[in-house]
Parts: sequence; C-alpha cells; structure tokens
Amino acid sequence: MLGGRPDPRPDVVTLRWLGTANFEVTFGDHVLLLDCFYDRGPRMRPLGFTPKEVVRAEQIFIGHPHYDHIADAAYVAGRTGATVVGHPIAANVVIKEGLPAKQTLGLTGLESGDLVDFGDYRVRVLHGFHLLADEDEPAPMPNIQILREAREKWEEDQGPLTPEEQAHYNSVSARGSMDKRVMEEATMCLVFEIGDFRLVYRDSAGPISKEEQEYFGSLGGVDAAIVGFIGRPLVRRQLDERTLPLVELYRPKVLLAAHHDDLYPVFLDLATEPLKMAVSHLLPGTTAVAPVYLEPVSIHMPTARVLSEEER
Ligand SMILES: [Zn+2]
Repeated sequence: MLGGRPDPRPDVVTLRWLGTANFEVTFGDHVLLLDCFYDRGPRMRPLGFTPKEVVRAEQIFIGHPHYDHIADAAYVAGRTGATVVGHPIAANVVIKEGLPAKQTLGLTGLESGDLVDFGDYRVRVLHGFHLLADEDEPAPMPNIQILREAREKWEEDQGPLTPEEQAHYNSVSARGSMDKRVMEEATMCLVFEIGDFRLVYRDSAGPISKEEQEYFGSLGGVDAAIVGFIGRPLVRRQLDERTLPLVELYRPKVLLAAHHDDLYPVFLDLATEPLKMAVSHLLPGTTAVAPVYLEPVSIHMPTARVLSEEER
C-alpha cells in the first residue's frame, strides 16, 4: 500500500490518486489498483514513489490499454501476484510483457456487462468509449499536434529530450497498445460493488455507451465516481462535451477527476475548480474532491460521506 496505513474501520473505503488516472482503492484487507502507470517517462512531475515500492495489490483493473494506463501493470502484477483485469487487448499487452496468461482476465463488457465476483466485492465491467478518433469534432489528432507544438515552444528553455530521456520515453510508451480498437472496444466503465456501496471508474471521458446507458439509466445514482477529465485543453469544452454528460449519467455522491495532470509531451494540467463549480450546479448534493498525489480520500460507505482529516 502507498501513502499510509489501512483504515481499520470495516465501513470505510479509501481512494488515493496516484497520478494520471491511477488510483489505489483500499477497504478491509483489500488493495485494488485502478490503472498502472507509475514510471511515467521523462519530464513528468514525480509521484513520490516508484513501481518497485508498490508491493501489495490483489487485482489491477485497466480502464483501457493505452500506455499511460497500463505501462507498469505487468511489472506490478508480477511482483504482487495480482490479476490484471481489463479488455482482452489489455490482457494481451501484459502477456506480451511476460505475465502468465492465467494472471489475466479479459472481458468485453458488452450487453449487460460482465459481473465478476471477488468474494467481499464484485465488479461489473461495462463497455465504454474513448475519445473517438473517427467521430470526434473537431478531429483530435491535428489539435493534439497543435498542443504538442505549443508545449515545445513554452518549454524551449529545456531544450529537446536528451538521448537518455528519449530512450526512457520510448521504453515507457512501448508498454501499451495503440490498436485502433482501444478507442471503440477496449475502453471500459468499471463499477465496483462493496456491499451496497457503488464506485464507478471511467478513465477516458468518451461518449456514453449503450451498455452504460442501460445500466445507469434505471439506477438512480451511485456513491462515488472517478471520471476522466482530459482530452480537450479548453475546460469549458471538456466539461460540456465530455466529463459532465458522464457525471450526469452516473450521478455520484462523491466525484473525483482523473487524468487531469500534466502528461508529457501533450497534455497540460487542467484545473479542477471549474469541474467542482459545474458539479455544484448540476448535482448540488455531490461532493467533488481534488486530492493531491497519495492523499487519502476516505469515504464512509453507508452514507457516502467524505471523512474529514480529523476523522481519518
Ligand atoms: Zn487513452
């Protein structure tokens, strides 16, 4: 575990943001990892730990297998014995890295989704969508190139990557899949059920899928959600077109953003305050939390209330 002791209370779940869309979820004796991208390459803000220090995990859930979500999954699963759970494309990525196939679970999440029972908790895997390269307006790739160029200009003082930095970048970014199907097929919406407590994890804020519409349509809200908050450099568009439609569908009592921090060489930090303000209008009863890396967000599960520092 990272960032502190487990909470001994059986009715408390603790979420820790570990940069990008990585989270650690702990409750009781359980330690789950959501995404696994800790050695993030050159010129990244340090996380405060290295993949070597991640020594406990029962399962590693992969929202989608782009390198910035899965690069360290095979390594961490190899050391901890965790199973890597995600789309079959995600399973193939870690198998290619040398993880035995029996330590993976590949699921497509189609129709009513896949429900996996882990004893003290269950996970429903639903098919979701990434920002779609084909149908997205404006087309993301040319605009990502513009972002990349803007960043190069603003970081001119740092000069180009050194050969060592370039090699580091190449090795990290090779540990993922750039298969086009990742966008349309291998991006998942994961719903964790701990007793009656429901936590949704969606690490890329693409369009709502039919599977999500059906599952959440009649649910009347969930307790907590972690939702992707990147892709549009303009916060207004990110909110209106990407993150808020998902938040409105999930209707969580506690909301955490994901993926909103700097990601060399493209994405720049997005401020989470506009998300908090928008959510306060959309869902006045919802608490939007923006923790720093490793900071515990402890939630009392029966009431979905975020515990204060004194209560932790
Ligand atoms: Zn991605």
